[in-house]
Amino acid sequence: MDLTPTQVIHAVRLGLRDLVLDSKTIWICASCETCTTRCPQEVDIARVMDAARILARREGRRPRIPEVAAFHRSVLESLRMFGRLYELGAIGALKLRTMRLTEDLDLGLRMFKKGKFRFIPAFANVLATNRIFRRVKKAERART
Ligand code: SF4
Repeated sequence: MDLTPTQVIHAVRLGLRDLVLDSKTIWICASCETCTTRCPQEVDIARVMDAARILARREGRRPRIPEVAAFHRSVLESLRMFGRLYELGAIGALKLRTMRLTEDLDLGLRMFKKGKFRFIPAFANVLATNRIFRRVKKAERART
């Protein structure tokens, strides 16, 4: 992270838009909500990070950590297609997007041997999932 979460909140309060939206921090934040849970001022820091990512994308800013944006896109595509995460497909899409084809190959093989990946995707309620995607898109359009 190039800014601490505290610095991000401070920058938001000061209106330092470029500093926040062009930071690495907003992309590295995993939205784990640890800071939100522990914040003595009850600031929902994870939500601020989410909002900053959305704004950065909406404004067409290039993500400072493009691999993270590629990861989000790959996971969301998988959810849309299968109604649930198909890990192998999402990883394949991520590898193609980042062109880091052989990176983490040994880790992937070890996970595969332990049965962490399915070869065949399992489908969940694809129609319901797609309804959620459509609702989100509609809400986004209404806001812009
Ligand atoms: S949500 Fe988690 S990853 Fe993001 S800033 Fe807070 S503690 Fe860090």
